[in-house]
Amino acid sequence: MNCIFCKIINKEIKSDIIYESEELICIRDINPQAPVHILIIPKKHIEKLYEIEDELLLGKMLKIACEIAKKEGIKETGFRIVINTNKNAGQSVEHVHFHLLGGRLMLWPPG
Ligand code: 5GP
Ligand code: ZN
Repeated sequence: MNCIFCKIINKEIKSDIIYESEELICIRDINPQAPVHILIIPKKHIEKLYEIEDELLLGKMLKIACEIAKKEGIKETGFRIVINTNKNAGQSVEHVHFHLLGGRLMLWPPG
């Protein structure tokens, strides 16, 4: 499959993996937008957030994001979880993923 995240999951492309389970892989973003910028990616190729039917999987993704926030030292200072979906939100990789961002002050509303 011609999907960059599937290639990362299959280890055809190298990445900085910080957590891996049967269902999930978490990697550092190649183009970080904050001192901590980690992608939480389900291993199953699902393109869009609204196509995920497995509610438990969604919960696990949020849970691991919080655990990583703690490990990366941004739990107390603050962090943001972003899920870009489709064109207006700027989704550029068609394999669903959560962004975990932190380590700097973030603006609201987001751009
Ligand atoms: P999106 O724009 O779809 O919300 O997020 C895609 C993210 O994937 C971007 O932040 C981009 O920097 C990241 N990304 C794209 N290709 C690669 C890659 O090969 N390795 C890693 N680690 N991140 C990538
Ligand atoms: Zn994929």
